[in-house]
Amino acid sequence: MEFPAFVATLNVVLVLLALSSPFEFIQSPTDFGPLNFLQTTNDASEDFGRIVFNTPSAVLRPQSPTEISQLLKFLSASSFSKVTVAAKGVGHSIHGQAQALNGIVVEMGSLPSAIKIHKNGAGEPGFSYADVSGGSLWVELLEESLKHGLAPRSWTDYLYLTVGGTLSNAGISGQTFKHGPQISNVLEMDVVTGKGDLVTCSPTRSSELFNAVLGGLGQFGIITSARILLQEAPERVKWVRAFYDDFDVFTKDQEALVSMADKVDYVEGFIVLSEQSLHSSFVAFPSNLDFAPDFHAEGSPAVYYCIEFVVHNQKQTGESDAEEDQVVEDIAKLLNFIPSRIYSVSVSYFDFLNRVRMEELSLKSRGLWDVSHPWLNMFVPRSGIKKFTELLLGTISPDTFEGPILIYPILRHKWNSNTSAVLPTRAYGEEEEEEEEGEEEEEVVYIVGMLRSANPSVCSRECLEAMLEQNRYISEAAGRSVIGAKQYLPHYAQEQQWRRHFGGKWGRFLARKQEFDPLGILAPGQGIFQRKY
Ligand code: FAD
Repeated sequence: MEFPAFVATLNVVLVLLALSSPFEFIQSPTDFGPLNFLQTTNDASEDFGRIVFNTPSAVLRPQSPTEISQLLKFLSASSFSKVTVAAKGVGHSIHGQAQALNGIVVEMGSLPSAIKIHKNGAGEPGFSYADVSGGSLWVELLEESLKHGLAPRSWTDYLYLTVGGTLSNAGISGQTFKHGPQISNVLEMDVVTGKGDLVTCSPTRSSELFNAVLGGLGQFGIITSARILLQEAPERVKWVRAFYDDFDVFTKDQEALVSMADKVDYVEGFIVLSEQSLHSSFVAFPSNLDFAPDFHAEGSPAVYYCIEFVVHNQKQTGESDAEEDQVVEDIAKLLNFIPSRIYSVSVSYFDFLNRVRMEELSLKSRGLWDVSHPWLNMFVPRSGIKKFTELLLGTISPDTFEGPILIYPILRHKWNSNTSAVLPTRAYGEEEEEEEEGEEEEEVVYIVGMLRSANPSVCSRECLEAMLEQNRYISEAAGRSVIGAKQYLPHYAQEQQWRRHFGGKWGRFLARKQEFDPLGILAPGQGIFQRKY
């Protein structure tokens, strides 16, 4: 569409936006012709959390980055408009982060999704990589790259998330200790800034925008494509779970495992609250667990812990696993799990990475996927992890907590401190003064994911509110300096909380907003900035 015609169409949209209630202004989807504006849909006002439901005035299904650029250029130039714009991946946020109340939601999945793989020849300088649309799913990238014997190095636990959505946060999983988060594995991006500029950026080209957007919560630009680093993919993996009844031993062994990056390819772990959480801890383990502790017996621990680690097998299907078995055996000798409580299984690399999908399908078939998810994820410095776990276990009830509690270490040096993502520094003793500048930064940071579900058949709105209140309490108490934690996938109600979250990086975050989205058009659902006129 020619720009003047586009502007005319937008003018109509904006006048209507200004004058009408969100439901009235679009008479029919065809009012917007080839621009693929749609009347708002239920989808655009929902997300995985099912806690916040903000209805936009319109939905844009862009066919090219240029359309997004034209929209943002127009909105930046029109001083009367208060319209905001939220890019939406698949809306797997918890608190409406991809929603835009009375604004425009841009559905990133409608951008053409051609995944291009560049495989580096032997001896050729440089890396193998994939060019992928910001709205593509990680599972699509995995399927395509595996055809070339390659795969991205860093993952999330669940693959039906978009590339642009996870890069706006960090993208973490059991590979993060080894390869850094997904935002540490990006070579280049195409971004449309809040001003509508279409920019190709990388660590050496428009690097300020590149770093701002990575972990930038959608505040600075919309990622229309990304160049993702690839590595040789294994055929199969050896997947191991070992159980603990002592928290200190559990964390000591997790830290030992993340120091063995030459042998170990993935490390996670979870708290086993009950018999139920042992067998349905988000991802059922495809091997017989003959571990059945009695949680209520006198003298038994109230909770157990499980370490999960993986060793890649580079051989072709059908070849013996003897070498990997030996690696696992050697590693196991260094660990102090409950005697004989170690279990392993060999699965294909794809099935391992796609493990949460099986759980999704099972929960969907029982009507337990599309329910409210009052999730809370926190980064906790090593020095605060014990106190944090005590706080958590003292707040929730093992009898009613439905869902997994993940807990595993990551290493700070794998994160680029120039990106917008933030990690906590360290916990401070009761008597210690918190430092302002040059804070001491601990290398080991834990991620704790409290991933609970609120099944409406047993949990009313009141019960959901009580869970959210517990989350606020945990987040606030853990944010104090004696624990020193910060939220991952953050959600705060007040500017003061955002300032505290970003700490020493707040000034740079503000300056970047001023440079790339000065009118505060983008990602209003994060609740960080107000739209300016
Ligand atoms: P959305 O929810 O649609 O968007 C998230 C934010 O990013 C919004 O502010 C949106 O405006 C912005 N945004 C979306 N697309 C773009 C774009 N192209 N450019 C700029 N901004 C954009 N996270 C992990 O790190 N590790 C995990 O293991 C993990 N597991 C998960 C498992 C499940 C079942 C679920 C539901 C979520 C999980 N997440 C995990 C969280 C996930 O990373 C976030 O929900 C993330 O936002 C990706 O979801 P999405 O693609 O739907 O993005």
